[in-house]
Amino acid sequence: MTHRKIFVTTALPYANAPFHIGHMMEYIQADIWVRHQRMQGHEVHFVCADDAHGAPIMIAAEKAGKTPQAFVADIAAGRQQYLDGFHIGFDNWHSTDGPENHELAQDIYRALRKAGLITERSIEQFFDPVKNMFLPDRYIKGECPRCGAKDQYGDSCEVCGAVYSPTELKNPYSALTGATPVLKTSVHYFFQLSSQRCLDFLKDWTHTPGRLQPEVLNKISEWFAVDEHGHGGLADWDISRDAPYFGIRIPDTEDKYFYVWLDAPVGYLASLKNYFGKTGRDFDAFFADPAVEQIHFIGKDITYFHTLFWPAMLHFSGRKTPDHVNVHGFLQLSGEKMSKSRGTGLSPLKYLELGMNAEWLRYYLAAKLNGRVEDVDFNPEDFVARVNSDLIGKYVNIASRAAGFLNKRFEGRVLPVAELPAADAAIHDQIVAAQPALCRLFDEREYGKALRDIMALADVVNGYTDENKPWELAKKPEAAQRLHEVCSTLMRAFELLTRLLAAVLPDTAARAATFLNVRFDRSIGPSQVERIGEFKHLMQRVDTQQLDELLAPPPAPKVVPGGEDIAPEIKIDDFAKVDLRIAKIVNAEAVEGSDKLLRLTLDVGEGRTRNVFSGIKSAYKPEDLVGKLTVMVANLAPRKMKFGLSEGMVLAASHADEKAEPGIFVLEPGPGAQPGMRVR
Ligand SMILES: [Zn+2]
Repeated sequence: MTHRKIFVTTALPYANAPFHIGHMMEYIQADIWVRHQRMQGHEVHFVCADDAHGAPIMIAAEKAGKTPQAFVADIAAGRQQYLDGFHIGFDNWHSTDGPENHELAQDIYRALRKAGLITERSIEQFFDPVKNMFLPDRYIKGECPRCGAKDQYGDSCEVCGAVYSPTELKNPYSALTGATPVLKTSVHYFFQLSSQRCLDFLKDWTHTPGRLQPEVLNKISEWFAVDEHGHGGLADWDISRDAPYFGIRIPDTEDKYFYVWLDAPVGYLASLKNYFGKTGRDFDAFFADPAVEQIHFIGKDITYFHTLFWPAMLHFSGRKTPDHVNVHGFLQLSGEKMSKSRGTGLSPLKYLELGMNAEWLRYYLAAKLNGRVEDVDFNPEDFVARVNSDLIGKYVNIASRAAGFLNKRFEGRVLPVAELPAADAAIHDQIVAAQPALCRLFDEREYGKALRDIMALADVVNGYTDENKPWELAKKPEAAQRLHEVCSTLMRAFELLTRLLAAVLPDTAARAATFLNVRFDRSIGPSQVERIGEFKHLMQRVDTQQLDELLAPPPAPKVVPGGEDIAPEIKIDDFAKVDLRIAKIVNAEAVEGSDKLLRLTLDVGEGRTRNVFSGIKSAYKPEDLVGKLTVMVANLAPRKMKFGLSEGMVLAASHADEKAEPGIFVLEPGPGAQPGMRVR
């Protein structure tokens, strides 16, 4: 068998939120494939990274009062618990803001420029005059040009479904500041995807047999298609964004950055380079090796980027292109699209916190996955049935039936295959004979078919158990030899089935390896167990109550008449994180250039004062506030504002819609409170 050298990635998650269950499905799909390849003896490097750049992260970080770097680092710090929890074995986790990515993205750009594939064009775009930045489409809102619905996004109407450009919106406003955006011209950089060179290359690349799934190829043909009016076809790609932008600066410019989608896939290479740097391997030599296979696992929504832009960028910068792009569908819940906003979904963290076994989910998703671009449905009843009837009932129970007798009666010794009667040995040989075909299925990502075939083998083993009834043999002293043969056959069958399932159930396989005293490092080969150790139960059945709790929607918020909904429930620990202190307003003054803010100087008993901006100008005269006590959030991250640093927040009551019902009421403590006292 040829020794393969494989570089595998999953899509990079955007670093503005924790993982959701869709990420876990992709990682489980790729992780199973990687583990399987390693069990074939192949060399596999499996990496991922946070996709750190772009306007949404820049804006979210600002809202959170953090630098984008700190914001992304906080998200990244939460990643490991998911990866460990679901046994996802990436070799490396990096960030697209790492130095390797800056360098690689700029190198690739320079090469594309040299190849004559970068052009500059002036485009007109909405600009927020308050924020001093060009607005991405999703940060422009206004009235739908077709149906007039208010508060619609800059690219499409959620009410009537119309698709338009932001400049067509009626009464547009910036979703960031509320300001009316102005049209402004700026030079943008384009990658010439529509050039004949690119088209020729991509037609050839996409049609290389075996590279892409047939459904993906069909979709690409639609993208290539040009109608009789000359419409359609590939368009040049706008790869630049104007400052301020959190990203990688375009070489030889002062204020232009790569659009996040240019440097995101480069992050695959950057993460590998970072990993090789840590392990002392030569990154350039690895990619210069024509035997290296580069394989990406992605969701169907990002096919365009991975099958057009990405291979073209790599090819025309003189680099190796992907060998396979493995596209999967979306995960649905009982036939419905998961939606966080509707409160439906399956939280991977909640799954782990409820103490549910990660391998139930790995097994269940694997049983539903195949090599096509199909959506996968998580169905609770089906989940319980597959785990309890198949995984536990058919597979795990084989070991628990045989282990007790082997340990109690035969000192754990398992008879060699050569010492078994022919009919018993045939069970062993049947499973060994099935290994190559099952390996092919795993290689083709036909996990569902592989697991069905493995469970069919488990059915054969369970039929053998029912025929031979070891529990009855155990009652007859004269049947001791037969009992030993039957239990040895069962234990060897369990070992072989575990080896076939090891990529799907790495934790169960590791624990089985310990009591069987074997290694599951290869998929192919006969059973090896000689003597078993102490048997501990391998896996519990699914408790349907846990599943109900997992899928229960969050409690509906209580509605306060005429006011605002009560926020979702929090724990006392969540509240304790907020350090509220009595503060004395030492000084208050208007802020030049702001019709909302007052500048407050506060004493919270620290031996220094704090500067806090508060949006209460409409309700208070500065001089009326001086000398008063109030309550402030004292541990809020300092926030850099246009007028200076704000070091906390003063508490005030207001209606949900301040414009409809004006009034802001600053909190005042009862008499006797002293500056610096904590509010609990
Ligand atoms: Zn509309």
